[in-house]
Amino acid sequence: MSPPHAAQLMDGRGLAARIVEEAAVQAAEISQRTGTAPCLATVLVGEDPASVTYVRMKRARCAKAGIRSRHIALPATTTTAELIDTLADLSDDPDVHGILLQHPCGPHIDERAAFEAIAPAKDVDGVTMHSFAAMSFGLPGFRSCTPGGIMRLLKAYDVDLAGKHAVVVGRSAILGKPAGMLLLAEDATVTYCHSRTADLPAIVRAADVVVAAVGRPRLIRGEDIKLGAVVVDAGYNPGNIGDVDFDTVRTRARLITPVPGGVGPMTIAVLLAQTVQAAALQLAMQHH
Ligand code: NAP
Repeated sequence: MSPPHAAQLMDGRGLAARIVEEAAVQAAEISQRTGTAPCLATVLVGEDPASVTYVRMKRARCAKAGIRSRHIALPATTTTAELIDTLADLSDDPDVHGILLQHPCGPHIDERAAFEAIAPAKDVDGVTMHSFAAMSFGLPGFRSCTPGGIMRLLKAYDVDLAGKHAVVVGRSAILGKPAGMLLLAEDATVTYCHSRTADLPAIVRAADVVVAAVGRPRLIRGEDIKLGAVVVDAGYNPGNIGDVDFDTVRTRARLITPVPGGVGPMTIAVLLAQTVQAAALQLAMQHH
């Protein structure tokens, strides 16, 4: 039974499908005009089952949207230097428009060094320092996909961020930190929380917007949500469980993302949209 008050769901699956449809139309238009379909290179080190599944899923979505993909499977024994060489070659290859390095790459790889071998123009996953800085400065560039997806969801549901207190729980380089920068760019007042934060519930209680990006099942509880707050759950834990305690939080929030079907599908949609955008920019330079 639904509680007396139940938050509206932010339907990431539906919005993602619309974004992918739009990307597919643009990909077809680019292919027709230039004779070249957009191409995403996916690079995977080792055979971690979750990573293999993620890459397969991303490539399947690409294929459905008329985006080619080229997969480079490297052995688990690949060194950082070898990985950098591969990424540098792809960065120089005019037939590749976007590069995705699936991570984590394994403890023996210097992941930051590897990411930095991706040319900014092809950084469609938004993982380089260049992309982070451009995003933070409000300059053109690619966004980290999950935060980019979160912002599109908030926009689709007309969430006005100006002057609102946004609390981001988590500060990873690909999720929490860029999410906070994007919220700041929309004039939210941003607080970052992390594993050393003292009294997380007290800070969450003051939030108009909560973005949970931690990886701890049901860390954010209903009793700590301000009535009418907007709650975005980027967490994904085994068993399809988010970082937000959905059942208690939805009795107090105004808007909430479900898990699954909220932030997850948005991440791939943004990856595809950014790949098409990268291809359009690169092919325009080659063809003029
Ligand atoms: P991560 O690199 O492990 O970062 C987790 C962050 O949470 C860190 O900043 C950590 O703080 C903080 N944290 C840990 N325990 C905490 C606690 N008890 N209270 C407050 N903060 C705490 O993870 P991530 O890559 O950002 O991913 C976070 C979650 O999002 C995971 O569940 C992941 O599966 C999910 N995710 C989903 C998508 C998607 O497409 N939907 C994409 C990426 C990630 P410190 O910095 O102090 O260690």
